[in-house]
Amino acid sequence: MCSIDEALAALESAVELLGAADIDGLAGPQRFAVIELLENALRRQVAISHAHITRLERYPGCPPVPIVLADVLRISRAAARRRVRDAEQLTPRATLIGEPLPPLLPATGAAWGAGKLDGEHVRVIQSFLHDLPTHVGPVEAEKAERSLARHAQNLRPDQLEKVAQRLAMHLNPDGKYSEEDRARKRGFLWCGAQRPDGMSVGRLVATPELRAMIDAVFAKLAAPGGGDSQAPSGEAGQADPRGLGQRQHDALTELVRARLGDPKLGRHNGLPVTMIVTTTLQELQAGAGDAVTAGGTLMPMADLIRAAVPSYNYLAVFDGITGQSLWLGRSKRLASADQRVMLLAKYRGCTAPGCTVNGYNSQVHHAARDWKYGGSTDIDDLTLACKCDNRLVENSGWTTRQLSTGRTEWIPPPGVPLIGGTNSYHHPERLLADEDDP
Ligand SMILES: [Zn+2]
Repeated sequence: MCSIDEALAALESAVELLGAADIDGLAGPQRFAVIELLENALRRQVAISHAHITRLERYPGCPPVPIVLADVLRISRAAARRRVRDAEQLTPRATLIGEPLPPLLPATGAAWGAGKLDGEHVRVIQSFLHDLPTHVGPVEAEKAERSLARHAQNLRPDQLEKVAQRLAMHLNPDGKYSEEDRARKRGFLWCGAQRPDGMSVGRLVATPELRAMIDAVFAKLAAPGGGDSQAPSGEAGQADPRGLGQRQHDALTELVRARLGDPKLGRHNGLPVTMIVTTTLQELQAGAGDAVTAGGTLMPMADLIRAAVPSYNYLAVFDGITGQSLWLGRSKRLASADQRVMLLAKYRGCTAPGCTVNGYNSQVHHAARDWKYGGSTDIDDLTLACKCDNRLVENSGWTTRQLSTGRTEWIPPPGVPLIGGTNSYHHPERLLADEDDP
């Protein structure tokens, strides 16, 4: 057995050799064979990296493993979480006293370790097992996993999916699902970021209960001519020009708008549950461009003006050139909350480098001089941090300080493989602006 350093050095020279090899004279069939061998080598390397991932542990100053992994490998946080989960399911484990245990998915793990599967094969097997009804016992589930892992070694992922669908029907011929099965599948998620036109696509998997309730609301608010959000103001009896999809969308808008700022919703991080929107004087005057909410959503100026007027919302206006705050509008005054609104407007979210937590879910954090040691609560010393990053400063040796630019710098303790710095995630326009600099 050699050391990992020797092995990595040998791998690097092998990759150098591969890159420099003469590949011009290869015949078609040889080329396919080479690509297949390269693919297998790549898959085996991913499997080996999984063995390392399962051994990663948090140490003082180290943020949660998927967060560090994402930054170190420069992959998305979702991809990093997937890798950690794959590693847990596909790699042999050990008990607390160090006895070896097989992977959670033993047959899939064995084929994965041998480099015989693609990530897509693994996804098919994982979602098959995730969607199995609870009445299918562990013995049957294990047998199904073995069978799918065997087929995966000879089929493409799309072919494997067909087999998985048939197997699921075979295991649950009457299509019986329990309440628990349905609860596990329920969800609403936005599919990716806002599109360039400002629109967003979401995916709702509703329980029968939610659908039944929505049906009842839609019957009234989404009926032709019903609701008030975008309804036509034409003559009585004129047909509603909106399609069903548009009417149902408008009914949802009306439903949510009616609840925003409702005192019954209580407070979230010290503020009423309502929209907080930032814009610059220049954009407001031009009536063009986008405002930004504390949830990170871009809102075209026309939408902002329409939404801000009737409801219980906050609008903070900044000078786009100096960054000075100019005006804080609110439909109801809450002096204690004003400072927090300005912080949300200024920072838009957690200021820790690369952190994606938005303003609504961030807390006030004292940078520069820590308040415990006599720091002031002057607004310039205040910034925003999510719960997790706040804890890193309190317990794990991270420090923060305010720069003269008004941004917050995060400095990791030694031994953490992160470089710290400021966060541009909530201000992507800054990265683009930097490109114009000489
Ligand atoms: Zn954070």
